[in-house]
Amino acid sequence: MRGVVMHAPGDVRVETREDPSILLPTDAIIRVSATCVCGSDLWPYRGVEPVKGPSPMGHEYVGIVEEVGGEVRTIRPGQFVVGSFFASDNTCPICRAGYQSSCVHREPVGGLGAQAEYLRVPLADGTLVATPDIPSDDLIPGFLAASDVLGTGWFGAVAAEVGPGKTVAVVGDGAVGLLAVLAAKRLGAERIIAMSRHEPRQKLAADYGATHIVTERGDEGVARIKDLTDGLGAHSVIEAVGTQESMMQAIRATRAGGHVGYVGVAHDVELPGEELFFSHVHLHGGPAPVRRFLPELIDLIATRQIDPGKVFDLTLPLDEAAEGYRAMDERRAIKVLLNP
Ligand SMILES: [Zn+2]
Repeated sequence: MRGVVMHAPGDVRVETREDPSILLPTDAIIRVSATCVCGSDLWPYRGVEPVKGPSPMGHEYVGIVEEVGGEVRTIRPGQFVVGSFFASDNTCPICRAGYQSSCVHREPVGGLGAQAEYLRVPLADGTLVATPDIPSDDLIPGFLAASDVLGTGWFGAVAAEVGPGKTVAVVGDGAVGLLAVLAAKRLGAERIIAMSRHEPRQKLAADYGATHIVTERGDEGVARIKDLTDGLGAHSVIEAVGTQESMMQAIRATRAGGHVGYVGVAHDVELPGEELFFSHVHLHGGPAPVRRFLPELIDLIATRQIDPGKVFDLTLPLDEAAEGYRAMDERRAIKVLLNP
C-alpha cells in the first residue's frame, strides 16, 4: 500500500509500506476513505520534535472495515467507521469515566500511520464508532473532522465549562480553535470571542458562531478581552495552540472563578505558580478523549446539524502529501484532507 513517511524535518514522502494485517484478535483493518494532516504533525516537520528515523505519519482517519479479529464483537466488515488518535478499550475505569485517551490499554494510532491506504486499528470495539449508514461523499470531511479536530475542540469547550449565558474566548485559529467556536455555539455560549488575525479564518469563525473577533495577541489580546467583559475576563477560555504565550494569554483572559480548557499540545510551557495561585482560574485539558464525544458528534454530522468539514480548505491525493504539509506549514491552508 501507499503511505506517508517522515524521514526528517521538512522531508515527507509517500512510499510503498507493508500492508497491515490482524496482529491481535481485537484488531480491525480499515480501508481509509479520508485522512488528513494535523497541526501536531507540524511539530516534527518543523524540527520542534525530533524525527527518530523514518516514521509513518497520521492519526486522523475514517474508512470502511475490511477485516476484524476473532474477538471483535460489535464492529463488522463493511461498516463506515470513525476512530481517533488513541485506541482505547472503552471498558476500563478510566475509559468509563470519560478519559479514553488515558485508557490503561491505550495505543497511539500515530505510530501506525493513518496517512495511508489501509490502517490496523487496535481495540476495534472500543476505538471505532460506526456511522448509521455509508455516508455520502459530502459528509466524509465532517466525519473525518470528528476523528480529531472537532473532538478536540469540543473537549476544550467542555473542559472550559462552556454553557448558556457565558462569554467564551478561543485562543488559536487553527482547525481546533475554529471547531471550538462551533462547540461553544452548540453548548449554548452567549458570546464567543475568536482570537485571529487571518481574514479567511475570521470568516469561518463567524460562520461557526463567533460574535466577536479580536486580532491582538499577548497582553494586548488580554486587554481587549477585558474591555469586552467589564474588566473581568471571559468565563471560559479555550487554549488551542500550546505555546507559553498562548497559555498565558488564556489564563490571563479568564475571570476569577472561570475555566481554561487547554487542548493545544504544550511545548516548553512553564506556568508561574504565584500568578496561578492568585488567579482563581480552573485549568483542565490534555489530549482530548475524543471517543467520549464520538457518538454524539457522529449523530450531529449525520443529521447535518453541524458541518465541521468546512475546516478542510485544501484536498489533495495522498500521493501529494508533501505539498499538503508545506501548505499547512506555510499557513496557506487551515487543514489539508488527503484522499488515499
Ligand atoms: Zn480503557
